[in-house]
Amino acid sequence: MMIPFTYTRYKNSVLASIISLIGSSFIVGGVFLGVAFVAESVTGNSGKAVNIEELAGAVLSGALIAAMGWLLTRWAKRIAEKKLKKELKAAKSVHVCSHCGNSLAPDDVFCFKCGTRRGSR
Ligand SMILES: [Zn+2]
Repeated sequence: MMIPFTYTRYKNSVLASIISLIGSSFIVGGVFLGVAFVAESVTGNSGKAVNIEELAGAVLSGALIAAMGWLLTRWAKRIAEKKLKKELKAAKSVHVCSHCGNSLAPDDVFCFKCGTRRGSR
C-alpha cells in the first residue's frame, strides 16, 4: 500500500510522526474502501439498477474515513510545529560562557565557573 511518507515523518516528534502515519493510512484506506464499496455497489447487484442510496453511502463512508485521516495529519502537524517552536525558544534562552563554554542561565551576568563577564571575549 502506498502511504505518502513525506507527510508522515516529523524529525522532532515521535508522537506527531505516529499520528501522521495513522492519518495517512486512514486517507489511503478511506479512498481505497470508498472505491471498493462503490465497485461492490455497482457490480454487486448485477442486472438490477444501481442503488443510489447504497452508492452514496459507499462514497460517504470512504470520504469520512479519509477526512478523519486528514484531520489526524493536521493535528500531527500542529503538534510538531508547537514542539519546534518550544525547542527554538529553549535554544535561544541557553547561553554559553565565551571563555570556558559553561552554560549560563538567562539572568547570569558572570560565569559562575570562571568569572568571565557575559558577552566579553
Ligand atoms: Zn566561564
